[in-house]
Amino acid sequence: MRGVVFLGNRKLEVREFPDPKPGPGEVVVAMKASGMCGSDLHPYRAAGNAAAALGLGGSGGPVIAGHEPCGVVAERGAGVAEADAPTGQRVMVHHYRGCGRCKHCRVGWAQLCRQGIVVYGMTGHGGHAQFICVPAFTLVPLPDSISFPAGAAISCGTGTAYGALKRLDISGRDTLAVFGQGPVGLSATMLGRAMGARVIAIDVAPERLALASRFGAETVINARQIDPVAALRELTHGEGVETAMDCTGNPDARVAAVRCATTWGRVAFVGEGNTTTFDISQDMIRRQLTIHASWTFSSVGQAECARFIADRKVPLDQLLTHRFRLDQADDAYRLFDTQTTGKGYFEL
Ligand SMILES: [Zn+2]
Ligand SMILES: [Zn+2]
Repeated sequence: MRGVVFLGNRKLEVREFPDPKPGPGEVVVAMKASGMCGSDLHPYRAAGNAAAALGLGGSGGPVIAGHEPCGVVAERGAGVAEADAPTGQRVMVHHYRGCGRCKHCRVGWAQLCRQGIVVYGMTGHGGHAQFICVPAFTLVPLPDSISFPAGAAISCGTGTAYGALKRLDISGRDTLAVFGQGPVGLSATMLGRAMGARVIAIDVAPERLALASRFGAETVINARQIDPVAALRELTHGEGVETAMDCTGNPDARVAAVRCATTWGRVAFVGEGNTTTFDISQDMIRRQLTIHASWTFSSVGQAECARFIADRKVPLDQLLTHRFRLDQADDAYRLFDTQTTGKGYFEL
């Protein structure tokens, strides 16, 4: 089979790999859609060791990229019951492997395992290929009404937005400010709206803000044109918003996300990388803020996100604006690196 490998320095290759054979407890999934996530740009852009760019460990050897895998069960290894992974079942992959036995693994949070983890697409072969080989317990069934590309999006970017909204305990009483309208931020806008919140979307790109309006943002703010903190206060009778989420990783946006929150407000940090300086006393302590650091979601949370999107008919397919074949990977990532709207995926 062929698979996409990041070489760092914005270079990648489509290489030939042997078709995977499932070992004990493993399943081979025939990929149907493999999403492109913002965190793929870290190894793509990295100088040198691509996997080291996210601090996830691993051997640093070449792995197939892509951590939003979605497809159908093709083959089971020894010890995997038919009922656990029926041939042809539509599935997403919770894209982490831990020890499978510790308290984190047992509740579906394999990425928190202290025994060392594999992150598919980063430190283990991922979804940008015809097949992926993963433990059966990483499979998350995909509801029939959800497309494979939407399932791919749920497998990282959209699921991450859902996970952070849960941490924020979003309700219809809340105004939600979402900083950054990339694939995660746009998902947060869509899902926040579906949870009943009044959503205000902030970005610097007019095309992204236009999508945010289409996906349910009541108001959009271009932070290049006006001060988002002042604008958000004006929109909330001078109080500030109950909830804010940063999906940018940008220090200015993070500070703004904290400053725009009302007293007793809740803020979630989702965008990765970088460092940021806060005035802890004035901006956080004096206003009794709750700050959440939210890393993706559990396998249980992934299934819940898919169920929510299916039941509430969240129009997630509209987010998936760019479809590519595997042999277009170079163009796909070149575009993703520079263009600013919607989300891309590989169709397999
Ligand atoms: Zn574990
Ligand atoms: Zn991701």
